Amino acid sequence: MAGEMKAWYYSEHGGPEVRQLRDVEMPALKPDEVRVKVIACALNRLDLLQREAPVVAGFSLPHVCGMDFVGTVVEVGPEADAGLRDKIVVIDPVVSCGTCDRCLSGNEFYCRTMRTIGSSRWGGMAEYVAVPDRNCIEVADSTIPLEELAGVPVASVTAWHAVLGAAKVQPGETVVIPGANSGVGIAAIQIAKQQGCRVITTISGPERMQKAYDLGADLVIDRRAEDWVQKARDFSGGDGADFVWDHVGGAFLQQAIDACTIEARVVMSGTTDDGYSTIKDTSVYHYGRTLIGHGKYTRQEMRDTVAAYASGKLKLVVDSYWSFEDMHKAEERLQSNDFFGKVIVCMPN
Ligand SMILES: [Zn+2]
Repeated sequence: MAGEMKAWYYSEHGGPEVRQLRDVEMPALKPDEVRVKVIACALNRLDLLQREAPVVAGFSLPHVCGMDFVGTVVEVGPEADAGLRDKIVVIDPVVSCGTCDRCLSGNEFYCRTMRTIGSSRWGGMAEYVAVPDRNCIEVADSTIPLEELAGVPVASVTAWHAVLGAAKVQPGETVVIPGANSGVGIAAIQIAKQQGCRVITTISGPERMQKAYDLGADLVIDRRAEDWVQKARDFSGGDGADFVWDHVGGAFLQQAIDACTIEARVVMSGTTDDGYSTIKDTSVYHYGRTLIGHGKYTRQEMRDTVAAYASGKLKLVVDSYWSFEDMHKAEERLQSNDFFGKVIVCMPN
């Protein structure tokens, strides 16, 4: 396939106006790649941040954003898996080189020249995307609409790895998952509940508290009106939680540590603008608490996560669907901070 495709393309950083829907040349397919016709693509905060400035190593302009998407394989490169032809696939956006020392020693998710589809390679906010065949997670059978699956990959596998892979939560533990309105929060609350944990979550403003309870949370704290650390400690019998997920960063890290019981763990996945947090050393070592770097998820975790949604075990919460032409409105929705769940852009049939 050659020729042109429609894409939300941008060649300079700035406000929403820099991204324009236009015809661009279809990227060439490498021998081990397949071409995916996009069905739907979900937006993430990184898509907004990288419109304004580069964030991820290896980013370059011009760019087409979109790390989260589902589509149909319409073309298969000569060395790619021919069995993927015409299959519905969700894309794992992490592309490792396959040749560096880390890739060769089984640590491909710490690849030295890792690229991410939609953040340092062209992504799903386009009619077509070229991706390595090994990045395709085939969806053989889905109990949910295919468009919903676009909202699964990045947020849900991040939550899956934080709760199960990094923190290894156990039944009966009390855990704090902040941000019940975000994609990662919504996923992590459900995953921790299914592991048998008591889940405390936070949200700003009273309007959406019931929605957070509906996800299964045992305690929802309005972080604007209440001292969430104290409330979380009180709810845990005074000592604090066994696990707090810091996907916020900055000043939140010290609060997360203070909300913990002895020998509890904090998984760190948050980054703020300057990338720094200041913490009191004794609040960690006096109490035997552990700070865990989130690290990278594995492809098996991605397969397990997609399967959990396709089978209906986990439920994706969709804030809103938008047409491809209305991508700017979808961005505005995500920027508003008023959303609850994933913001998904659907391609015309
Ligand atoms: Zn590598």
